[in-house]
Amino acid sequence: MSSYEKGWKEVSIAGVCWLPSTKYLTGDWSPYKPVRDKAKCNKCLLCHMYCPDGAVIWNSKAEDIEFNYNFCKGCGICANECPQGAIEIILK
Ligand code: SF4
Ligand code: SF4
Repeated sequence: MSSYEKGWKEVSIAGVCWLPSTKYLTGDWSPYKPVRDKAKCNKCLLCHMYCPDGAVIWNSKAEDIEFNYNFCKGCGICANECPQGAIEIILK
């Protein structure tokens, strides 16, 4: 067997996403979603910072956070990092 390794130009194209991320809803397959207890939330925005999918949004008009379930994958990181215990992950 040869020890030759292919260069990147010789490797065939594998998975290609054919839609921009704004149109490919990466959260629609998840069975879980976060819900927030507004009474416990102090709007520290840690959930916004920790969300790997940008699915916790600051709504400047309402001056409050909201979840974008189109892109939330229900990973639970926001619930884990919330210092107030204000987020619960539930079945959709
Ligand atoms: S991390 Fe918790 S307390 Fe902070 S904004 Fe998010 S839900 Fe509210
Ligand atoms: S569950 Fe995960 S993807 Fe959804 S808002 Fe929380 S951190 Fe973001």
